[in-house]
Amino acid sequence: MSTTVDMKDVKSDEKKPVDVMAKPDQLTVTLSAPQSLIPDSIQPAEPPAVELTVLSNRSKQIFEEALKIIPSGASSNMRVHLHEPYPVIFDHGRGSKVWDADGNEYIDYLMAYGALILGHAHPNIIAGITEQIKKGTLFGTTTELEVEVAKLVCSCVPCAEMVSFANTGTEATMEAIRIARAVTGKDKLLKFEGHYHGHHDYVLYSVDSPSAVAGLESAPAKLAYFPGIPDAVSQTVLIAPWNNVSALERTLKKRNNEIAAVICEPVMTNQGVIAPAPDYLKQLRELTTKYDVLLIFDEVVTGFRLAKGGAQELYGVIPDLACYAKALGGGAPIAAVAGKREYMSQIGPGKIGYGGTYNANAISLAAAKATLETLLAHNGDSFKHMAEMGTKLRDGLKEVFNVPGYRAVVNAVGPVLSIAFSSRLKEVVTYRQSLLADQDKFERFRAEMLRRGIYSHPDGAERWTLTMVHTEKDIENTITAARESIKALRSRKET
Ligand code: PMP
Repeated sequence: MSTTVDMKDVKSDEKKPVDVMAKPDQLTVTLSAPQSLIPDSIQPAEPPAVELTVLSNRSKQIFEEALKIIPSGASSNMRVHLHEPYPVIFDHGRGSKVWDADGNEYIDYLMAYGALILGHAHPNIIAGITEQIKKGTLFGTTTELEVEVAKLVCSCVPCAEMVSFANTGTEATMEAIRIARAVTGKDKLLKFEGHYHGHHDYVLYSVDSPSAVAGLESAPAKLAYFPGIPDAVSQTVLIAPWNNVSALERTLKKRNNEIAAVICEPVMTNQGVIAPAPDYLKQLRELTTKYDVLLIFDEVVTGFRLAKGGAQELYGVIPDLACYAKALGGGAPIAAVAGKREYMSQIGPGKIGYGGTYNANAISLAAAKATLETLLAHNGDSFKHMAEMGTKLRDGLKEVFNVPGYRAVVNAVGPVLSIAFSSRLKEVVTYRQSLLADQDKFERFRAEMLRRGIYSHPDGAERWTLTMVHTEKDIENTITAARESIKALRSRKET
């Protein structure tokens, strides 16, 4: 079956290059039986720009206007954090590419912080949303589409006997923590130093602790991320070091009567990418069971990305509750809390509160359905493809950075990757090691990459995300750009 989205002039089977500037309603969409994972309609006709001389004057102008009316010029701090002298402002995207306000083209490794698992403007998502929008966007009742997507989620996620939707990762972790507190009758939450779980007060401790004030590695200081978080909240949070079983056991043994849940990113992805040590997640599971504490996996980044069942499938460890967002909606705002029936079934009137006007809105559900069906097509080859691309990029970059002055540790778990420049670090397996990465060096490297058409966040601790639509050619171009960037930096003796 071939579905065409409002197409007037172009037939769906035509293989001519797609105009990358085309508006979405001029797109042709083939929904089934594509020969590759990447639809022709989102493969750009032209190779990426090799050398950008002027970055983006329009970005500068737009940002100056933004600063006058939007605090710090953006509706989320990470969009301006370390973006000097101004952020590159995107205008449109297609597949793995994005174009800024001046028309410069980049291979995109931000991918909206990982939400765009099918890349920009994927035809299946456009088709799904377009169809739904004509039928209605929001109903304020349960819908059949909601049941359908819930079944899809449960078919993928090992711990998911029941699922409930929300809009953002922040809401999902907030709801999961409330469920854990309600069912255990305990108040405290144990989280790990360097892990990020969204923007509500309960989890904004020791997210990005600077080493000077972070305290002992084995007993990290509890530090509010920024002002405005009530001091009383800090009484509900305990901090433990990641990848350290004995420190965790010490706290659980002493405080298990107070701790409702342990929450973690099963793979650390917000302070560089740091995999769990071998068997660490298994030990985490055993200890939480032993001390009668719930285990929450925050799979907002890892979910529907490392495998169809996320990190819990990859590492074979089943939490009590898990949180999803980002990849689930392929760019639309949707999140989910999933978990064991005994806990999830406690949600309801007169039981645990759960709500939101926009929860399970039809547009986001349509996007989620299209995203999951696309990811799951071809026997899940997309997950294999993403992991292979991640490995290829990691190995290529490792080789590029094997030079004096620009040595770096490149960590990758499947399609999420991070680079830590350092002449001393041989590995980055702890949060404290990640703090030793040379941020200045990363920024200089990133600026060179930008000129060569490669976009990443300027914060070296921020992950690079590969998607289903990043191609081998993208990876090769990126490695070439990295080699040229390092050569340019070294020739200017910027080490
Ligand atoms: N958990 C993790 C692991 C995340 O990386 C993020 C966002 N980067 C969140 C939760 C919060 O998600 P959102 O931004 O959708 O609220």
